[in-house]
Amino acid sequence: MGKLLPSGCRARLPGAILEGGDGVPKLTTQLDEIPVARRLTPSVPQQQRHGLSGLLTLLMLLAGGIVVGMVLFLRPAQDMSTLPDPLTEPMPQPEADGRLLGHFPYPVAHGADLVEVIPGRRLHRDAATAFLAMQRDAAEAGVQLRLLSAFRDRETQHNLFFPIMVERDQQPEERARVSAPPGYSEHHTGYALDLGDVRHPKLDLDEAFDQSAAFAWLQQHASRYHFRMSFPVDNGQGVAYEPWHWRWEGSSHALELFEQARRFNAATLTIH
Ligand SMILES: [Zn+2]
Repeated sequence: MGKLLPSGCRARLPGAILEGGDGVPKLTTQLDEIPVARRLTPSVPQQQRHGLSGLLTLLMLLAGGIVVGMVLFLRPAQDMSTLPDPLTEPMPQPEADGRLLGHFPYPVAHGADLVEVIPGRRLHRDAATAFLAMQRDAAEAGVQLRLLSAFRDRETQHNLFFPIMVERDQQPEERARVSAPPGYSEHHTGYALDLGDVRHPKLDLDEAFDQSAAFAWLQQHASRYHFRMSFPVDNGQGVAYEPWHWRWEGSSHALELFEQARRFNAATLTIH
């Protein structure tokens, strides 16, 4: 990226000079408007001409610089998901079954399939309908479910995984125990969500959430709405116990996406 700057600047220099040259006739017109008596003093217009010409060139270079700067600034934001990240270098290769550090790969949901359940929280429309029905019925039973996290794109997952890994000075294996690498999160599908108990916000995203009334209600009723806890205690994937994380398996599409994980965990649970 740094290599682009000099060549970009060089490419714009001839343009700036040409445009600076175009400014000269305008200066001549301005010169015609100066009274004859003043025109007789040659040094003043000469200085003005040089001064204005220099100013114009400077402005052109400045404008060119801004354009180059904007191009360089915008480009990484657009290409971020496709650019290789230096931090992914030490990442191990996926297993033969596609798992990376215990997590299965998942496609990112199409934007058109996502609906906003609450501001900033989107789910696949089918999962959203099921969640809202479940939330309403839970409320009637005196339990208030809070939607803490829903759909996440690759970039969001990237920013959850790597910066925290670096900050905590962790190896990818350690980080993956509690968070999926980008491309491997169930949240990409729009069918997974993290739930909290409105009455016990301190238990949000904590193992102790399983002591809440919300969790007790979910354990008893969530399957009626086709929600399943993805990472129970000692799950075969080796992911940390996440009583707050549930995925929706109520359509053939969702079932298909999670089939591999479901089969894998069923097989490993019987081994245990
Ligand atoms: Zn989650």
